[in-house]
Amino acid sequence: MVQFVWRDVRGLVRAPMFYGYLDRLEDILMASYETYHHDVLVIGSGGAGLRAAIEASVAGVSVAVICRSLLGKAHTVMAEGGVAAALANVDDRDSWKVHFTDTMRGGQYLNNWRMAELHAKEAPDRVRELEAWGAVFDRTDDGKILQRNFGGHKYPRLAHVGDRTGLELIRTLQDYAIHQKIDVYQEHTIVSLLKEGEKVVGAFGYDREKGLFKVFHAKAVIMATGGMGKIYKISSNSGDCTGGGISLAYHAGAELIDMEFVQFHPTGMVWPPSVRGLLITEGVRGEGGVLRNKQGRRFMFDDIPELYKGQTSTDEEEGWRYTQGDKNAKRPPELLTRDHVARCITREIKEGRGSPHGGVYLDIAWIKEKISNASEHIKRKLPSMYHQFKELAGVDITKEPMEVGPTTHYIMGGVRVDADTQMTTVPGLFAAGECAAGLHGANRLGGNSLSDLLVFGKRAGEHAAVYAKGTKAGSVDDKQLEEIATWVLSPFERESTPTAENPFQVQSDLQEEMQKLVGIVRVESELNEAIEKIKAFRERAGHAACGGNRGFNPGWHTAIELKHMVTVAEAIALAARERKESRGGHFREDYPGKSEVFAKINVSIQKDAAGNMVVKQVPKLKIREDLQQIIDEMK
Ligand SMILES: Cc1cc2nc3c(=O)[nH]c(=O)nc-3n(C[C@H](O)[C@H](O)[C@H](O)COP(=O)(O)OP(=O)(O)OC[C@H]3O[C@@H](n4cnc5c(N)ncnc54)[C@H](O)[C@@H]3O)c2cc1C
Repeated sequence: MVQFVWRDVRGLVRAPMFYGYLDRLEDILMASYETYHHDVLVIGSGGAGLRAAIEASVAGVSVAVICRSLLGKAHTVMAEGGVAAALANVDDRDSWKVHFTDTMRGGQYLNNWRMAELHAKEAPDRVRELEAWGAVFDRTDDGKILQRNFGGHKYPRLAHVGDRTGLELIRTLQDYAIHQKIDVYQEHTIVSLLKEGEKVVGAFGYDREKGLFKVFHAKAVIMATGGMGKIYKISSNSGDCTGGGISLAYHAGAELIDMEFVQFHPTGMVWPPSVRGLLITEGVRGEGGVLRNKQGRRFMFDDIPELYKGQTSTDEEEGWRYTQGDKNAKRPPELLTRDHVARCITREIKEGRGSPHGGVYLDIAWIKEKISNASEHIKRKLPSMYHQFKELAGVDITKEPMEVGPTTHYIMGGVRVDADTQMTTVPGLFAAGECAAGLHGANRLGGNSLSDLLVFGKRAGEHAAVYAKGTKAGSVDDKQLEEIATWVLSPFERESTPTAENPFQVQSDLQEEMQKLVGIVRVESELNEAIEKIKAFRERAGHAACGGNRGFNPGWHTAIELKHMVTVAEAIALAARERKESRGGHFREDYPGKSEVFAKINVSIQKDAAGNMVVKQVPKLKIREDLQQIIDEMK
């Protein structure tokens, strides 16, 4: 149902037709709301959002999905290497227990073990379901879904479509979703959640085309807004990944956990500068690609962590045999977890053994020594990588090595959720996908995100529908709407004030400082400096100004988004200062070892009544005995 309400944000309720022609600023500042009612509102149309929307719709409630861009263009579309599921199609030794153990080991045992259990058990069904809905996977010779090797996975586990798996996943979910009764709002941005008492009862947003305000009333809201890579300067993420959903949930009272765990993927492009950070899939290493420094040395053999010694090959020949499916071979050290590989690359660069543009070499061309039709093989297995390097860097990866370096890729932390239902700590608010936390602990294994989206997207949709069926629609008072509208329109009023800030400049300065002070190697003094600077960024964000009008105005959009980017930056920096040890994606130069104390703790962040960000250490849940036994048996 749509309703129109017209209101001047400076207090007077009035209808514009009584005013005739309004001057431009007044026109812009007129807050008219279109109002919509749904049972379940899904914010975000990536893999998690679409899977959640399908499930909620199947449960028989009315569902709407909000996409900030166009349907089918969410960040998930960029996923390359594959979706992890213990189908055991390529190696029949694989099982949910091995996948569970790999995920826990990769997350350095800080994972929510119940989520890791559900994920490992349910991922195969979610992948088969995708196949039944029309996804075209690469195939084994006997027609099963083909699976490839990836870092930290003991057996070949990633179902894939060349190196364009995300595109296939989104295409399939989108095709399926449009045949359900789901309302889709494209090019809409949500700027705040709406509350009645403690409950979330909807969301406030605007459409990007005209800048019109939209008030969405919903009995349950699912946050599926993805990650935050764009608060760093060098990132593999799409422009959409500004951490908005994590911040929206936080400001609505939700608890965040594990925010210190940011994943720096080891292989981003480093040259030319315009594409710095763009991802090179781990699939390159899964297909036999090796890392070398400028001396030509495979430096990954120099440092194999204790936890992985038993599973890692000690000579190059064995590593190659592993990538070609030899079940008796151990994996090459290039396929160790991302946190470790990224740190080894950083060390080579810092110690002067890097490539000319500040990276190291990733070489897949060398496999011509082993395979007669190597060039065709590489183009078939890694078509996007071949085109990416050919067109953007003028490098033919079938003939020459690539230059690569770490890039901000993923956040393991986010909104705390209940493992079974995906409900956050705020009634009526659910979260799934990259914006939710728990499954990956201190470090995510490649391929475990796409399976996360499918498993927990489905669960979020199912349980949001159950919640909505048992809940009466809430109501939102006008004051709440007016406060949000006033804030959202404020950048226009600041345009000609002496303290006006260019929102793009503030964003760029924030990215620069996060990269420098809260990056891959952290230290207390720099984290303190970052926290002080973030306070100043909050001030500057409050002065962000824009001109023009409300239609397709990127300056305005960025001015609003800054609040969320600063919130997420502050949460990461505070959590990183709190965790005085090195684990997974979080490396402290001043605390390089693992701590027994922090092994039992998740860092939690919540807003207090005065609006301050409060950091706490919360004991992690004791693992169920049968699951601990599985981990012990697999060691
Ligand atoms: C280059 C690349 C390759 C990758 N490859 C793999 C891989 O092979 N395997 C794997 O498992 N993982 C991979 N990942 C990670 C994985 O792609 C992401 O973690 C995952 O797609 C996130 O999905 P999501 O549904 O949580 O969010 P997204 O796909 O990011 O979708 C978020 C949605 O929320 C919307 N949104 C955000 N904020 C707002 C707002 N305020 N209002 C309205 N809408 C909003 C966005 O527009 C978008 O629709 C890769 C990542 C990158 C960058």
